[in-house]
Amino acid sequence: MAGKPRVVILGGGAGGSELASQLGSDGACDVTLVDRQAAHLWKPRLHEFAAGTIDSTLSELSYYMLGRMRGFRFEQGEVRRIDPAAKTVELDGPDAPDGFRPGPRRIAYDTLVVALGGVTPDFGTKGVAEHAVRLDERQDADRFRSRFVAAMIAAREKGRPTRIVIVGSGATGTELAAHLRQVEQAFFQPQNGGKKGLLKITLAEAAPQLMPGADETLRADVKARLHALDIETVTDAKISEITADSVKSADGTEYPADISVWAAGLVGNPCLKEIADFELDKKGRIVVDQHLRSSLDPNIFVFGDAASFTPEGEDMPLPPTAQCASQQADYLADALPKIIRGDEPEPFVYDDKGRLLSLARAGSVGMIGLGRKSDILVKGQFANAAYKSLQRRHQWTLLGPVRGGLAIFADMISPAKGAQLKLHG
Ligand SMILES: Cc1cc2nc3c(=O)[nH]c(=O)nc-3n(C[C@H](O)[C@H](O)[C@H](O)COP(=O)(O)OP(=O)(O)OC[C@H]3O[C@@H](n4cnc5c(N)ncnc54)[C@H](O)[C@@H]3O)c2cc1C
Repeated sequence: MAGKPRVVILGGGAGGSELASQLGSDGACDVTLVDRQAAHLWKPRLHEFAAGTIDSTLSELSYYMLGRMRGFRFEQGEVRRIDPAAKTVELDGPDAPDGFRPGPRRIAYDTLVVALGGVTPDFGTKGVAEHAVRLDERQDADRFRSRFVAAMIAAREKGRPTRIVIVGSGATGTELAAHLRQVEQAFFQPQNGGKKGLLKITLAEAAPQLMPGADETLRADVKARLHALDIETVTDAKISEITADSVKSADGTEYPADISVWAAGLVGNPCLKEIADFELDKKGRIVVDQHLRSSLDPNIFVFGDAASFTPEGEDMPLPPTAQCASQQADYLADALPKIIRGDEPEPFVYDDKGRLLSLARAGSVGMIGLGRKSDILVKGQFANAAYKSLQRRHQWTLLGPVRGGLAIFADMISPAKGAQLKLHG
């Protein structure tokens, strides 16, 4: 594709995969997507893959296949270094199971987009790295699920419940707790009279309330639904240490745990500090301007969880959500060709559509704007439909109208995949 401007996108997650599909199918640029994984998995469903309410292998999309369908090239590899002067990116790997690794190589670009996401920080808390599971990528979900299944079988055989402690009551922690309660049923055995009580779930939050920062009404509703699922919630629980069999809080309280999950907050991907001398905010996210351009180089753009974007007139950066990453992908799919032609596009404007949670058997609930000044609490079928839409929108953007429509239809009728999806973080 001699002559076409070369756009390289680093990270094929919730945002990067949507941008690559849109720019690739547009055809104006020569698009390359880089990711260290071979297949795309939509991160907002990680708690469902971890709990096993959805089968991850049926939900992943091969990047090679997606690239073929949507007109972009896929390069699997770990991003090591960006050279803004030479306009190249150095990649390494992937590692083959036998340890073979293709040597480091460089990809040239005219315009570079960084969408490498974020991770769950441990804030230096003792034992998190050794003993807790963090849900940052699919390997974490697979690791959690295999430990969970083994623990539940042991619980059934020993007649003693498995104790799971989840630290952090944001979307990840809250939704995981609800989905685990749903999956518990799969371990009930008729010969023991379908005895319940194989799973004790504790959701611990450092802040004085659950879901810090969320609307009061939503918090109260979510708390009631979690309690209806017999999920214990503790607040003001500043966790000081995680051991192999317990979670300890600074006030000396100890929560016995067969499995600990650390779901407390999000910071920029640690590799962002290594790959170039970006300007980072205090959460390690790359500071960008109103066009999502980095201050390091006008040809390097950043979006999604990796970016720290503060809307005009606000003092806080936008929260790290798939909703935000998706809107920024749409913006760049339109703005980048303009910028490459030398035009100046309008700045990015975020349209907050609200926040929704899928709590499995306890239904869905959330706050959405519906164009009103203040958000309203939505529940039941409406909330269910509302949070399906983000995932459907993702499928549609990734696969295009025809294949997207078919995939959504297949999802709706396929018992394996089901449709417990959601709109916002
Ligand atoms: C359990 C859970 C539930 C969530 N629920 C919601 C929700 O309901 N609604 C919502 O709006 N948001 C939700 N979120 C947040 C949402 O998932 C993120 O905001 C979103 O995925 C960010 O998209 P992104 O493209 O910036 O990054 P990501 O989706 O994290 O993608 C980053 C990509 O970069 C790749 N990568 C990382 N490092 C490297 C490297 N060094 N080299 C090469 N490739 C690399 C990764 O493999 C990945 O594909 C949830 C998150 C979790 C964990």
